[in-house]
Amino acid sequence: MSQFSYQDGVLHAEGVALPAIAEQFGTPTYVYSKAQLLQNFRGYAAPGKGRDALVCYAMKANSNLAILDILAREGAGFDIVSGGELLRVIAAGGDPGKVIFSGVGKTVAEIELALDKGILCFNVESIPELHRINEVAGRIKKRAPVSLRVNPNVDPKTHPYIATGLKASKFGVAFSDALDTYRAASALPHLDVVGIDCHIGSQLLDDAPLLEALDKLIELIDTLAGEGIHLHHLDVGGGLGIDYGTGDNAPVAIGDYVSRVFARVDAWRAEKYEGKPIKVIFEPGRSIVGNTGVLLMSVEFLKPGEEKNFCVIDAAMNDMARPALYQAWMDVKPVTPRAGSTVTYDLVGPVCESGDWLARDRELAVEPGDLLAMMAAGAYGFTMSSNYNTRGRVAEVLVDGDRFHLIRRRETPEELFALESIVR
Ligand SMILES: *Cc1c(COP(=O)(O)O)cnc(C)c1O
Repeated sequence: MSQFSYQDGVLHAEGVALPAIAEQFGTPTYVYSKAQLLQNFRGYAAPGKGRDALVCYAMKANSNLAILDILAREGAGFDIVSGGELLRVIAAGGDPGKVIFSGVGKTVAEIELALDKGILCFNVESIPELHRINEVAGRIKKRAPVSLRVNPNVDPKTHPYIATGLKASKFGVAFSDALDTYRAASALPHLDVVGIDCHIGSQLLDDAPLLEALDKLIELIDTLAGEGIHLHHLDVGGGLGIDYGTGDNAPVAIGDYVSRVFARVDAWRAEKYEGKPIKVIFEPGRSIVGNTGVLLMSVEFLKPGEEKNFCVIDAAMNDMARPALYQAWMDVKPVTPRAGSTVTYDLVGPVCESGDWLARDRELAVEPGDLLAMMAAGAYGFTMSSNYNTRGRVAEVLVDGDRFHLIRRRETPEELFALESIVR
């Protein structure tokens, strides 16, 4: 059940009418539902209760400390892609011992920080990276737990920018090179080779490609065991999609996907390892936070035209980059729908770029001053936002039942140039 619904003709987040938030904190503002966040996280965590499983939330999707804190208190681990994200986890009270460090370009300083804080594992993407981690670990007298990100060459059939598991992708080690890379890793003195992982893409509505990738990893774990390399964990990555309201097929339910992963893993362990379990890790991002958030915005002007009618809103591509970046279709709903005839609008922001649109060809009955909500904007929304056009990043609000809390205040223009200096 969605936590965003119309009650008495007004769009609510849980028990809070969105106009109340706009009145107090202005627009544009990201609004998140705590209940929706918990529902999604528990969808992953519940089927794994009582077994060796860990949900490492891929925090690049939404890294607000309030979100991280809620998830950390639910027992979440975190999938990070920078040293900055590790410091966020710690600032939010998360456990570095449940952190997995992904990404193709980890710097020496980031590796040192991660070793110092005692993370669970580095997901390594290349041989030079293995050498770098080994050197840093040796220098500071630590052992580095590593997993190899393997590229199973499974086509996720998603947008090319978010397909990451194909041969031509910059991510991961090619499946055909995996065995040699594991041998190389095992020979390095300061590394503990503990796992395997993959991440084939994002916004997958069907879990068949994810399960196909899992089968490839299982095959590789067996081959490695035959060589005396015994892995302790299997990380199936993230990538499960959400319903953006496009009318396409509904995404597979989180619990169904997770249960299918466990069933496959259990059958394999029973057949080949006398039932000895292996730790299973998930790295979901979008499916945890995507439908927990909306971007609340206001209509500034209506601009009818010969070919197109424009609805100029106060949110722009710097606040929500997905339409400009991926041609993503995002659902936009009026907060208080008006009776009367609709007009077909392109929703555009004030930024000086033709690419600054948030939605195209939408049937709306709106007037200047009306509130609109961009639905399912909780993932890759705020975290991808920028200060382009010297626009402060927007406020973020968390709704909990019938209360709401500011979890990041709007940036002021002065803050945007405070770090700069004039040279004369
Ligand atoms: C981004 C990312 C994820 C999360 O992907 P979603 O599609 O948001 O679930 C997981 N693992 C890695 C390595 C990533 O880069």
